[in-house]
Amino acid sequence: MQNLKVQYKTALAKKLHAKVNQISLFWKGRVGLYAILKAMGIGEGDEVIIPAFTCVVVPNAIIYLGATPVYVDITAATYNIDCSKIEEKITAATKVIIAQNTFGLSSDFDEINAIAQKHQLEVIEDCTHGFGGFYKGKANGTCAKAAFYSSQWNKPFSTGIGGMVLCQDAVLAEKLQKMEGELQEPSFKEVQMLGLQLKVRSRLNPSLYWTAIKTFRLLSKYNIVTGSSSGEELAAPILPKDFLKGLSPIQAKKGLEALSVFDQNLKHRRTIASLYTAAFAEMGFTFLTEPAYATHTIIKYPFLVKDRKAFLALAETNNIQLNDWFLSPIHPIESKFEQWHYVYGSFPIAEKISQHILNLPTDPSISIKEAQRIIQFLQKHSNHFLID
Ligand SMILES: *Cc1c(COP(=O)(O)O)cnc(C)c1O
Repeated sequence: MQNLKVQYKTALAKKLHAKVNQISLFWKGRVGLYAILKAMGIGEGDEVIIPAFTCVVVPNAIIYLGATPVYVDITAATYNIDCSKIEEKITAATKVIIAQNTFGLSSDFDEINAIAQKHQLEVIEDCTHGFGGFYKGKANGTCAKAAFYSSQWNKPFSTGIGGMVLCQDAVLAEKLQKMEGELQEPSFKEVQMLGLQLKVRSRLNPSLYWTAIKTFRLLSKYNIVTGSSSGEELAAPILPKDFLKGLSPIQAKKGLEALSVFDQNLKHRRTIASLYTAAFAEMGFTFLTEPAYATHTIIKYPFLVKDRKAFLALAETNNIQLNDWFLSPIHPIESKFEQWHYVYGSFPIAEKISQHILNLPTDPSISIKEAQRIIQFLQKHSNHFLID
C-alpha cells in the first residue's frame, strides 16, 4: 500500500519536472500549507500577507500557528493579489507573502519574488487551482520557494480530497518530508467514506447536478460525508484536533488514475474556456484574460452578474451547471470576519467581485455540445451581466 504513495509522488514529480524528494503528501492542501509555514518557523507575532480573495482555510492555517494574516486587495483583471499594494502592508513583522493562482490564472510571480527579495521575505504559492499551468514557461508551483496544491473535488484533478507540497529549497523539502512521516493516518471510517464518495461521484449523471450538490452540502454540513471543510473550521480559526493527517493510499491510487488523463482534460478545459471567452467577447464582455506570461488551467470560468440570486435561480430552472465559488473574500465565511483579522469594507475590489461572481464549469463532464447549450443560455440572459 505504501508503494502507491511512492508511485504517486513519482508521477507528480515527472509531471512537475521535479524530484521525488521535493514532494510531500497530505490529507488536504490546507495541511500542506500549515506544514510549510511551520517548517519556515512561522509563529507568534509574525505576519503573513495573503490575497483578500481566498479560501478561509488559508488564514486558518496562519492563525493556527499564532501568526496574523494581513490581506491585500486583488485586481479585477487577474482575480489575484494586486502587486502594487503589497509593499504598503509590509511591516517589521512580515515574514511571508502567499500568492494564489485563482481559478487557474497565474499570479505575476516575478513581481512578487522581487518585492519579497527586497524585504527578505519568503514566498509561498497557493497552487490549489494552478496544477498543470505555466508562468513564463515554468510549471505553476515552481515559481516560489514552496507551493501547496489541492486535489479536492473541484481542483485541477481530484482524489476526492487531498493535498501535496512542492519545495524548491532542499532544506525545507527535507523538513516537510520529515513532517509527512510523522502525520497520523486518516481513520478507517474516513477512508471508507471517501472511497464510497469517489465511487458515487464517478457514476453521477450530470443532469442531476443541482440535486447532487444540494444533498452533498447538507450531508457535509453535518459531517456525514467527507466534505472539504468541517463545520468547526468555518466557525472559528481554532486548530481542529485531528487536522494533521497524511494522504491515504486510496487517494494516491485515485491520483495516479487522474494524472494519467490529466493532459487531455486540461486541453479540454482550455477548449471549453476559449468558447466562453469568444461568446462573452461577442456580447461585449471580458471576464478573463490570459497575459503573455501565463498558460492558465482555468478550472472554473469566472463571470459577474448584477443579481446573483436571480441568475442562480435561472440556471437551476434551465439545468445549467454553475458554481458559486468565492462568494466572500474569505470563502465561504459570511460573518464574524474579524475572527480572521479581515476588516470588511477595506478591500473594495475583492468585495465587489465576491458579491457578483459566478463560475462556469470547464471540466471533462462538459461536452462541446453542453458548452454550446450553456452559451445559448448566457446569450439569452446577457442583460444580467455586470458592466465594468
Ligand atoms: C481549495 C483551496 C485551498 C485548500 O485546499 P484543500 O485541499 O481543500 O485543503 C486553499 N486555497 C484555495 C484558494 C482553495 O481554493
